Amino acid sequence: MSQIGHVSALNLRGQDNVFKLWGSKPVWKCECQLSTREPRFLSFLGSDSLGLKLKFPTATAMSRSSKIMSPLKVVCIDYPRPELENTVNYLEAAAFSASFSTARPTKPLDIVIAGAGLAGLSTAKYLVDAGHRPILLEARDVLGGKVAAWKDDDGDWYETGLHIFFGAYPNVQNLFGELGINDRLQWKEHSMIFAMPTKPGEFSRFDFPEVLPAPLNGIWAILKNNEMLTWPEKVKFAIGLLPAILGGQSYVEAQDGLTVKDWMKKQGVPDRVTDEVFIAMSKALNFINPDELSMQCILIALNRFLQEKHGSKMAFLDGNPPERLCMPIVEHIQSHGGEVRLNSRIKKIELNEDGTVKSFLLNNGSQVQGDAFVFATPVDILKLLLPDDWKNIPYFQKLDKLVGVPVINVHIWFDKKLKNTSDQLLFSRSPLLSVYADMSVTCKSTQHRPAGEKSPVAPAARTAAGICHAPPEVPPPPRAGE
Ligand SMILES: Cc1cc2nc3c(=O)[nH]c(=O)nc-3n(C[C@H](O)[C@H](O)[C@H](O)COP(=O)(O)OP(=O)(O)OC[C@H]3O[C@@H](n4cnc5c(N)ncnc54)[C@H](O)[C@@H]3O)c2cc1C
Repeated sequence: MSQIGHVSALNLRGQDNVFKLWGSKPVWKCECQLSTREPRFLSFLGSDSLGLKLKFPTATAMSRSSKIMSPLKVVCIDYPRPELENTVNYLEAAAFSASFSTARPTKPLDIVIAGAGLAGLSTAKYLVDAGHRPILLEARDVLGGKVAAWKDDDGDWYETGLHIFFGAYPNVQNLFGELGINDRLQWKEHSMIFAMPTKPGEFSRFDFPEVLPAPLNGIWAILKNNEMLTWPEKVKFAIGLLPAILGGQSYVEAQDGLTVKDWMKKQGVPDRVTDEVFIAMSKALNFINPDELSMQCILIALNRFLQEKHGSKMAFLDGNPPERLCMPIVEHIQSHGGEVRLNSRIKKIELNEDGTVKSFLLNNGSQVQGDAFVFATPVDILKLLLPDDWKNIPYFQKLDKLVGVPVINVHIWFDKKLKNTSDQLLFSRSPLLSVYADMSVTCKSTQHRPAGEKSPVAPAARTAAGICHAPPEVPPPPRAGE
């Protein structure tokens, strides 16, 4: 769905079945109407998912259900795309990407790439832009790797993982622009919303005001939140963060040896800050706890969020990633002479006598040769396939230090609307889950088929690695029907 402007703050409880257009940004044109034929549906016009319907109960249904429902406040708003194009990071990314298209190779190379996740797909995309011929080999019969998704017999989609696209992703945002699919990102209110573990059903918000530049908008968001941190805790945290703000990238990189928990202790930040904020943050970033995660990861994210006004602004893709994001990349690759092959699992990296790669041997026995080879699979797969002759090379020995984190993503379809939900990513703050979202609200697309009497809602939840003990070779998620 294209950005449909500020559309309707809906209170779905019944007494306020009204919707309004907020006209503050006239650029974003939208219409929305209550269908007269189907009065219980709100349909959005002027978007590319015309006909999408959000179900909300009729007055009769409401009076029946309101007795058993707690107050329901769902905000259905698509916010305008932030102005990212003039940021330094975006301009750098755009210039870098444009540089591929300007230089023409004297001899185009055949480049074989393992893995059609977003890394492999974008590698192939930029290689065709640079005038080469990529052959992208994907083990499975679905594109996208960790953004892969499957449709079941009912037409419902199951995603490998719920995915957020931040404003602070200049390369990804630039890629969307180059593919002409910016309108597939549904931007959300600039907030971070945390569940309150001791008050089930309640949430605490960090709201970034639109009128303030970075880092003031972030500082304001932290200072204004009083439910999660006390003033002394906030002040101590801010003082602890000062070296990171002043020290820049070199300071950030030097913190790699410290876990989040150790760093907080070293900086004199109270434990409660870690417990209240950074357990959720660490899990959201890497699915592990603050006593395991390198502080460098947190500081990289915080730095971007604090330096860029829209850095922490979040967008959801408007539908299933294989069709809505991966296919446009594949079409670009193919229309420029590259190839994408599914069901092509690499079983062995075959070497020449001098130790360079000769070919990839596939499960079906065929060999794929090229002038250059790229591995864009999870690190555990590369470790499994690493040729014996490479195992003593210091460069490859560093792989031992990279360990994959097993993650379970649960995608649940409920037969009725969730009561307490929001049009935003929610940090769960439970020991088990990291973040979740009600995707019937956050991803308004035909993917989440029009709500019938059994209104489907799809929140996605992720488990932290600590709860499962998967072997290094994590099996792919079960396919629909399996
Ligand atoms: C649950 C979950 C939620 C996430 N949420 C977010 C988020 O909100 N925002 C965000 O920015 N990031 C998020 N991430 C991280 C993001 O998904 C990944 O960083 C990104 O998708 C990785 O892309 P990739 O191409 O590097 O690897 P992958 O997506 O893992 O792709 C690797 C590909 O290689 C293929 N492959 C494996 N072995 C072989 C073989 N032998 N031969 C050929 N092909 C092979 C795989 O099938 C796969 O398609 C999330 C990750 C998970 C797991």
